[in-house]
Amino acid sequence: MRARSEYIVEFSGLKNGSHFYEWRLGDAFFDGFNRDGFQNSHLLVKAKMDKDETMLVFHLNLDGTLQFDCDRCLTPFNFRLQGTKALVFKLNGTESQEEDEDLFVLEASEFQLDLAPHLNDLVQVLLPMKRLCQMNEGQPKECDKEMLDQLKTYSASQDESPTMDPRWEALRQLKSDDN
Ligand SMILES: [Zn+2]
Repeated sequence: MRARSEYIVEFSGLKNGSHFYEWRLGDAFFDGFNRDGFQNSHLLVKAKMDKDETMLVFHLNLDGTLQFDCDRCLTPFNFRLQGTKALVFKLNGTESQEEDEDLFVLEASEFQLDLAPHLNDLVQVLLPMKRLCQMNEGQPKECDKEMLDQLKTYSASQDESPTMDPRWEALRQLKSDDN
């Protein structure tokens, strides 16, 4: 993906102290990565970056909405996404003993940072695994009954031989072992 200038922080010329940023993320931003099952995303990341001689520390605060299709009835609903994260970039190749996935080491020759992949990562970890109408922003929604019935009819015709949940199968095995 081509780096886009609005997500690049040229830190080399900045004074020590706090610096503030705002980044808007929409579908076009995520298309540059691998947009995973959502649309109509409108997210805002506010960031405070503290700089000193040895490191840059970003405090990211994300808030906004995006739209998922419900896992059960496939109807789109709005989801509020919120989260915070701190990212640490050590300057001048300073080696660190700490093992931390949110800690990065920058070489002395580096003078700018592309935050885009980090912003994408922040969103990816916040995305829920399950996506259901009940999670609709502001007011939980009921699943679309008509749609559920249609899907049930469809999957019944598709799935002639339902397999047993492996956990039940294991439990059954345990029970028969007891006897
Ligand atoms: Zn639903």
